[in-house]
Amino acid sequence: MTSTVLTGIGSLVTNDPSLGQGPLGLIADAAVVISDGLVSWVGRAVDCGPADAAVDLDGRTVLPGFVDSHAHPVFAGDRATEFAARMRGEPYAAGGIRTTVAATRAASDDGLRAGLVRLADEFRRSGITTFEAKSGYGLTVDDEARSLRLAREQTTETTYLGAHVLPEEFAGRPDDYVSLVIGEMLDACAPHARWIDVFCDRGAFDADQARAILVAGVGAGLIPRIHANQLEHGDGIKVAVEVGAASADHCTFASAADLELLAASDTVATLLPGAEFSTRAAYPDGRRMIDSGVTVAIATDCNPGSSYTTSMPFCIAVAVREMRLTPDEAVWSATAGGARALRRDDIGRIATGARADLVSLNAPSHVHLAYRPGVDLVDRVWTSAPKVGS
Ligand SMILES: [Zn+2]
Repeated sequence: MTSTVLTGIGSLVTNDPSLGQGPLGLIADAAVVISDGLVSWVGRAVDCGPADAAVDLDGRTVLPGFVDSHAHPVFAGDRATEFAARMRGEPYAAGGIRTTVAATRAASDDGLRAGLVRLADEFRRSGITTFEAKSGYGLTVDDEARSLRLAREQTTETTYLGAHVLPEEFAGRPDDYVSLVIGEMLDACAPHARWIDVFCDRGAFDADQARAILVAGVGAGLIPRIHANQLEHGDGIKVAVEVGAASADHCTFASAADLELLAASDTVATLLPGAEFSTRAAYPDGRRMIDSGVTVAIATDCNPGSSYTTSMPFCIAVAVREMRLTPDEAVWSATAGGARALRRDDIGRIATGARADLVSLNAPSHVHLAYRPGVDLVDRVWTSAPKVGS
């Protein structure tokens, strides 16, 4: 067993209050020892014993690798033209997804894989050490299964999103499409997925359809999560809590009753600052959620239509500025919060036994992630994630 000590850490975010100060468990002048891909020791550098190798971080900040619990990185083409039109004043609608569906169906496996690998590299460079990947741009049995197979080459956190939008060939026949999603398509996709998701909103699927789809997914061994209340207020959050979803995502239009339900449940509210930013929409009130006792995660929602970013530092800065999270809360939500939204306790924190997924910043504190928006502060990324086989 070889061990490496990271020393000279000016400020360490552990997300373990028993290890340091405050909810982030901050330790000044810290060291971390990594052995065989796991954290084997955390504490003050002066108390640290010897290791086989040492890396001096010269006063930099170290925090857990970001956990991106909501991303759509399996697609072909881009929608820059649609984005430009929207910035000229045209509204965002769920139907734009069909443009990407056509491009994705037409793409080769190699073409889709190349796009996914490029985005996975961007995630890592922004400090993301775990990312979720949804299907949802195939919308046929074969194309959904193919998307998940390719996603599995890059991450274990794969999500079957056959119910992203009603494909054109099913126009006027939503019940027929839902039958396919919970029948033959689910059978083909479940072996490649950990999660099931549905876009429950205006222009996509209603609450009854969403419930039926998530319950069918649970029956096939998948864990539910949901796109809820992004475009208008509906019953998506209620459905999420009812089916025991790990996360309800967007929650832009959430009532006091919705927040009470979330606070009393194990369902995380995942906020996606890039989506409101890129659709010029009103932001959800993250401050009110946290003050109501809701557990909040922040994710990129990386997708070609409504949030084409792979930068978690950008999302943190926007969450602080526009959703009224404190810098501490935003950093927690992008690390430990994301881990909660993926029901993982081996990531999102730096403690003995956790995976050695860490990021160092060219900054004296994690606050700089929001304080210095748009500046690439990521110095190095350590990740223990094994390469996932196809
Ligand atoms: Zn999404």
